[in-house]
Amino acid sequence: MRVYNFSPGPSALPLPVLEKAAAEMTDANGTGQSVMEMSHRSKDFRSVIEKTEALLRELMEIPSNYKVLFLQGGASLQFSMIPLNLAAGSVPGEGKRALYVETGIWAKKAAEEAAKFAGVETGASSKDRAYAYIPAAPAAGPDDAYYHITLNNTIVGTKWAEIPETGSVPLVADISSCILSEPLDVSKFGLLYAGAQKNLGPAGTTVVIIREDLMGRAPPWTPALLRYDVHAAEASMYNTPPCYGIYVIGLVLQWLKDKGGTAAAARRNREKADMLYSYLDNSRFFRSPVDKPFRSLMNIPFIPAENDAEKRAALEKRFAAEAAAQGLVNLAGHRLVGGMRASIYNAMPLEGVRALAGFMKRFEETV
Ligand SMILES: *Cc1c(COP(=O)(O)O)cnc(C)c1O
Repeated sequence: MRVYNFSPGPSALPLPVLEKAAAEMTDANGTGQSVMEMSHRSKDFRSVIEKTEALLRELMEIPSNYKVLFLQGGASLQFSMIPLNLAAGSVPGEGKRALYVETGIWAKKAAEEAAKFAGVETGASSKDRAYAYIPAAPAAGPDDAYYHITLNNTIVGTKWAEIPETGSVPLVADISSCILSEPLDVSKFGLLYAGAQKNLGPAGTTVVIIREDLMGRAPPWTPALLRYDVHAAEASMYNTPPCYGIYVIGLVLQWLKDKGGTAAAARRNREKADMLYSYLDNSRFFRSPVDKPFRSLMNIPFIPAENDAEKRAALEKRFAAEAAAQGLVNLAGHRLVGGMRASIYNAMPLEGVRALAGFMKRFEETV
């Protein structure tokens, strides 16, 4: 039996995608091989990666002056590659200024890593209230090499309601947990990046979308594998790319396209999120810790209204266990923040959210 999987990542994939991957497991497209077994230099694999890139370009309406790269190392390696490529100095330890907005744990990690290569300025932070909101966008300075935001904050469940205006300073955004959840104007950004395992496919691939003029800025001491221009010059095949992951991403993108693309996904995602938020806002027992204007469509934390920490932890444990018994799994909050969290990415159907809301209502009546 398939469960409704609310995991924040790696997360649920659409069933038709898994079934197609299974059907092609031993013989992909009449080649007599699995995509896992193909040479990445073969024309068969080239058609796989080209199709995945073309679908991503189509679905996100990526302008032609942007490169699409399929890399490894997760979103976390981008925390290092971005400052290395955009702000590092001619000798290690020296670097230009970069502006970071601290809206959660991933944003903070990105800034901490960047400080090894750049002069990081935290322009604004919402740490004072446990990241329950997005602060007003700080102004970009003339010396900033780039301006970094985390568009959707997976752990705390916030998202930027508006994209900051940064003038000529390139805007860089971590979109790991919201890529393709709704339309996004790529032309407002210099660089976008996303680990695949939330809304795109299996773990192991990171998608980077970079404006061409931002390449070639890495200092000479940068390792080749960490340079965007090296990957771009070789069409993501400087070394062996994460072939199978790229193939599954292609299947997910085709599925999304068949369902009407990002505009239709946004409508479905809003309906799902509204269902949970309206339940939470009317519940006497559960509540959302996030300020209304900044609530994520993808990651919805909720906490029981119980002030005693020990009792609350026990309730949360019971909730997770009883939910799992009903086929609603992976609802525990992030280990650093506790509470509960439902991640409802593109692959989560409305019925799954309805089942969760129904379960929460029944649970609430028993306590
Ligand atoms: C999951 C996540 C990360 C970390 O991704 P890895 O691929 O594990 O490195 C970074 N940023 C955001 C917003 C995330 O959701």
